[in-house]
Amino acid sequence: MINVTQPSIGAEELAAVGAVFDTNWLGYGPRTQEFEELFAEFLGVPADRVLFLNSATSALFLAAELLGIGPGDEVVLPSNGFIANANCVVAAGARPVFCDLDESHLNPSVQDIIDVLTPRTRAVMILHYGGYPGDLEKIAALCAERGIALVEDAAVSIASSVDGRMCGTFGDLGVWSFDSRKVITTGDGGMLYVRDPEVARRARRLAYHGLEDRSSFTTAVKSPHLWWSFDIEDVGRRLIGNDITAAIGTVQLGKLTRFVERRAAIGRRYDRAFAGVPGIRTPPPLPAGHRSTHYFYWLRFESLAIRDGVSEDLLGRGIYTSWRYYPLHRVPHYGATDAVLPRTEAVSDTALLLPAHQSLRDDEVDLIAEEVIKAVQART
Ligand SMILES: *Cc1c(COP(=O)(O)O)cnc(C)c1O
Repeated sequence: MINVTQPSIGAEELAAVGAVFDTNWLGYGPRTQEFEELFAEFLGVPADRVLFLNSATSALFLAAELLGIGPGDEVVLPSNGFIANANCVVAAGARPVFCDLDESHLNPSVQDIIDVLTPRTRAVMILHYGGYPGDLEKIAALCAERGIALVEDAAVSIASSVDGRMCGTFGDLGVWSFDSRKVITTGDGGMLYVRDPEVARRARRLAYHGLEDRSSFTTAVKSPHLWWSFDIEDVGRRLIGNDITAAIGTVQLGKLTRFVERRAAIGRRYDRAFAGVPGIRTPPPLPAGHRSTHYFYWLRFESLAIRDGVSEDLLGRGIYTSWRYYPLHRVPHYGATDAVLPRTEAVSDTALLLPAHQSLRDDEVDLIAEEVIKAVQART
């Protein structure tokens, strides 16, 4: 079976985990700090603003809490988004307001967001679809101008940037994921960037029980009496990462450029294979100054029947395809099934994601393209 996504891990990651075992310190510690520092440097932000957590979902829920989102508030987000984006809004007692998208890059345009803003809008939460930054700069400018918080879910856009500035650093809060389907993985894990240093300190407390110091050891160094005592001002949870997963992350981060180059090459190979084939539309070229992680490679077909037929034919040949994301406004629990989002509907009815992970071989890419073209031609 050829998968849509797949981790690329091996001996180096295993050796890094072995080295952590040898230190006999598995929890949050020096490897976690090192990973946070490297990631901050990679983003071009101060190290105290970056927190390694146990998942991107934890980071999104924490982001909603840090922004103080609650009952009576609205949060604007694309319907073409990940389930945790809506869940963290609903869990906070606020209302998710879904917006439509631009059919070229499959992210909301700035106008799509303006169309659903109300005086109750407290935050906008966007992702960068498949790694495409889209209208990020304009959306960040809009939010700044209107005093609305911006949360960027950069889970799949770890290597994406606009004019050299990394996606995830345009808003007040940014989130990355290292789950096993992402470009780089730690098994499970996520990163949170908090632009404001005070809010970042609060994030660190809330990520570990509300405690200012994470271990009685650091407390003991500061005050050698009753170091097991503690005080809390904010009740927190337990969302932090650990040295085992951080050690894997440090190795994976070092491979990111290579992984993304391979993904870009796979995208170009697909583009060439599908160029000029009737009934198949490929993703648009990136605008000047934009860089993508190339996380998704999507195609558009002329109808739902063709799209579904292509995915079934490919599955029969051992090639798994999929569509992300099932439109969130269609999920009854979010109370927005009456939202009118024609472009989101059209895309989710006719688009398909092809396997695009960095471990795909050229002959596999060629085979997938050939099977797609055959499946389309059989139906037109
Ligand atoms: C995978 C993903 C998440 C969730 O990441 P976890 O680390 O599994 O919690 C959030 N948003 C997007 C866009 C994702 O693709």
